[in-house]
Amino acid sequence: MRTALVAGNWKMNGSTDVVNELMDGLIAGLNSSGGVEVLVCPPSVYLSQVEVAAKNSLISVGAQNVSENGDGAFTGEISLTMLNDLKCEYVILGHSERRSLYAESDSVVAKKFIATVAAGIKPILCVGETLEEREQGKTLAVVERQLKAVIDAAGIENFSTAVIAYEPVWAIGTGKTATPAQAQDVHAAIRNMIAEYDANTASAMRILYGGSVNAANAAELFANEDVDGGLVGGASLKANDFIAICHAAGA
Ligand code: PEP
Repeated sequence: MRTALVAGNWKMNGSTDVVNELMDGLIAGLNSSGGVEVLVCPPSVYLSQVEVAAKNSLISVGAQNVSENGDGAFTGEISLTMLNDLKCEYVILGHSERRSLYAESDSVVAKKFIATVAAGIKPILCVGETLEEREQGKTLAVVERQLKAVIDAAGIENFSTAVIAYEPVWAIGTGKTATPAQAQDVHAAIRNMIAEYDANTASAMRILYGGSVNAANAAELFANEDVDGGLVGGASLKANDFIAICHAAGA
């Protein structure tokens, strides 16, 4: 039995006031667990503020990215030691914006994954194809390449705390959501890919869908057997929408 997870990726949005207001709204609206784990991933400069606000609430806190290196001369980067210091539970790795805008390769994502697991933080590993790749029938090949690059480097035994997020690039921030059938097909394929390494890890693995999830479409996406919740961008910035998505995952 997998507990659904809904993770909000706030991306590069927010301010001290916006964060306070959003956290107040989320805490007020999420006062019973409802069978879903709720996570917010603010910009790193607001992690401390969110940690304080989330204390004694049902909301967990994660980061959007982390360095694969230990503390030292890496200007502008954030280390796993720092995330542990702030009691971050999760970190998003390999988001398509990191891959496309900051040239994060499969091998860099794998290094980050290995360092994250070693630091005792749970990785949310993002995979997904571009529109061009989907139209060329390459969806599963791309997802398999991204996934295997990490499994082969890290070892399947290091996936027990990991979460996978299937995020078709063409659906992220575009308002175009994968159909429930499209999402289920890829999620089932991902679970099968993991099962080739280890069946128990595959059946326990939470596989989230991400890409224009909103309050109106969440329930039908999450109703699929292999969709274990969502990674939510835009809609996670509106307390009521995010709460509705969390309730849909818990239903
Ligand atoms: C994301 O950033 O991971 C995401 C899925 O964004 P959105 O929900 O806005 O498409």
